[in-house]
Amino acid sequence: MRTTGSVDEVRALVNTARQDGLRVGCVPTMGALHAGHNSLIRIAREQCDQVIVTLFVNASQFNDSTDFQHYPRPLEDDLATCRELGVDLVFQPEDATVDLPGGETTVDVGRLGQVLEGHHRPGHFRGVSTVVVKLLNIVRPDVAFFGMKDYQQQLVIRHLCRDLHLPVEITTCPTIRDDDGLALSSRNVLLTPDQRTAATSLYRVLCLVQHQLDNGTTDLDHLRELMRTELTATPEITVDYAAIADAQTLEEPSRVGGDLVALVAAHVDGIRLIDNLPLTTAATS
Ligand code: AMP
Repeated sequence: MRTTGSVDEVRALVNTARQDGLRVGCVPTMGALHAGHNSLIRIAREQCDQVIVTLFVNASQFNDSTDFQHYPRPLEDDLATCRELGVDLVFQPEDATVDLPGGETTVDVGRLGQVLEGHHRPGHFRGVSTVVVKLLNIVRPDVAFFGMKDYQQQLVIRHLCRDLHLPVEITTCPTIRDDDGLALSSRNVLLTPDQRTAATSLYRVLCLVQHQLDNGTTDLDHLRELMRTELTATPEITVDYAAIADAQTLEEPSRVGGDLVALVAAHVDGIRLIDNLPLTTAATS
């Protein structure tokens, strides 16, 4: 496995691979790899000849500088994981390699980046979109892999690639959960056992929505109320949003119709978690 922080080196490797007719896959991450990230790398390994993992903690997508400073950076563990998973190249650039001194260009995807997560974390998707465009332009993979866990993020990235004519396929990989349903996240290590139990309410509420739809409920406003009531019944939880949205536009219809996704963001004693569940309705099944 090779590691580099050099744009020229990653480009040289990708150019050679492309000349050899190889398919190049890229898995962008902020490191602190867990089984969720690993599943993306495994899928990339299955589908591509060359797998590149990027490790870059992107300051511009954090709303809170303390959160950014305390973000875990277990580099040696991450490199060992990548080696075990058969990654070909790890790209671990310095901040100044990605964010060139004096560079002020940003990417703004519009409304899709302003609702839900974007509403609660202003500027977050501008930060995500800008760094993803930079990383994709540096690596120039055939395909990039993102997690369903960050539903709105993968949607934003799909849109920006389409809108900006970026020649890259986007593959979205399933959310990996612990046995109790909690979606894996780098932030889970911060939870005490009691907070962890409280955190399982997020997935439980998402499953409850699917259950209600299976039982014939069509009133989505009622279901949104139910999500909020169920979540706030757990005293440790403060809800940012509990939404049922169109799976493509993230608009929030009142009644069932088209592909839908349920999304939640909540603080468990101050630790912010997000989760989502694409829904099956009579119309979509
Ligand atoms: P991050 O390092 O948090 O930026 O995440 C890197 C990639 O891993 C993103 O595409 C995430 O959506 C994905 N990811 C994070 N957690 C999970 C999970 N539990 N299941 C699947 N993908 C995940």
